[in-house]
Amino acid sequence: MLLLLESDALMSNAYLGWFMTWSEAQHEYMRRAIEVAEKGRGQVRPNPLVGCVLVKNDEIIAEGWHDHLGGLHAEQMAIHDAEEKGHNTNGSVAYVTLEPCNHFGRTPPCTEALLWAGIGKVVIAHGDPNPIVRGNGISVLEEAGIEVESGLLEKDAAMQMREFLHWCQYRRPFVTVKVAVDANGSVDDLSKAAGRFTSDECLKEVHKLRKDCCAILVGANTVNRDNPSLNVRLIETQRQPLRVIIDPNNRIDTNSNVLSDGLETKHLTEDFRGLPATLDMLGDLEIQRLLVEGGPDTINRFLEEGLVDEFILVQSDSTHVDPVSADFDLSIFTQISEETWGKESVKIFTR
Ligand SMILES: [Zn+2]
Repeated sequence: MLLLLESDALMSNAYLGWFMTWSEAQHEYMRRAIEVAEKGRGQVRPNPLVGCVLVKNDEIIAEGWHDHLGGLHAEQMAIHDAEEKGHNTNGSVAYVTLEPCNHFGRTPPCTEALLWAGIGKVVIAHGDPNPIVRGNGISVLEEAGIEVESGLLEKDAAMQMREFLHWCQYRRPFVTVKVAVDANGSVDDLSKAAGRFTSDECLKEVHKLRKDCCAILVGANTVNRDNPSLNVRLIETQRQPLRVIIDPNNRIDTNSNVLSDGLETKHLTEDFRGLPATLDMLGDLEIQRLLVEGGPDTINRFLEEGLVDEFILVQSDSTHVDPVSADFDLSIFTQISEETWGKESVKIFTR
């Protein structure tokens, strides 16, 4: 039975797409769809980032993306965009970064929208990781006589929606650690009162990162030493991340910002059941990306338990007078990029 299903799948156009070669123009259309999808970053969770362009006579006639939770899906926005610009969508090709949904959620299914718009062909970057929930869009489109090809720039699309895919697979958030160190790798300067030692421009980048994370976690020591707000202030945002404080001995000050500023905080005291259980709990809350901004103890615990997916090391050129060294074991990680945030150099590692 299983074999039969597999051979059926192989016969469908969507799967034949895996063996196809794509033209440079097709790459360009899908790249544009991935590019416009970015406009929804930090605003669509628990949905994934999705982009769509409509192509007719070798030209992009319309673009759409999932912009915010509750807003139109990418395909619907693209069709709407075409109508606004006076284009007839009949016979056009839709390039979409994720398999169109076929379920009635906050909006009618995209498969129906594509059918109504007379789209002749749909090219998909990445298949739906959750077809049971979202309704197996490819087969519905094919049954309706629309040609479907998939797999174009699949890896790029997967990278863009990696936290969504991770959460679909494991029901836990993708864990990003961010830590700032001085020129010698020290994480703190005991000669000084608490405070950051990185540049203002760097802090703005950190706020961008926070905006893309659904929750931020620190331990009790960080709250007591720095009294951080752990919110997004330096850039515009429609919602604030959930703050998660690991404090099994209930040591943090009740007047601390995270407990008194009115924004949402999960203060884990006696109910703390370890980090894996905490990730399960956050996954149930549809937290898809968790940012760990804690001190070395918290970070090392995450590392020791093998729970870190991405490690962002921010290195300042300042030097601490009374340094606190931290030996982070990054042996299982690979550096994937190097960036500059303000005056700081930033290395990004993933598993
Ligand atoms: Zn949809």
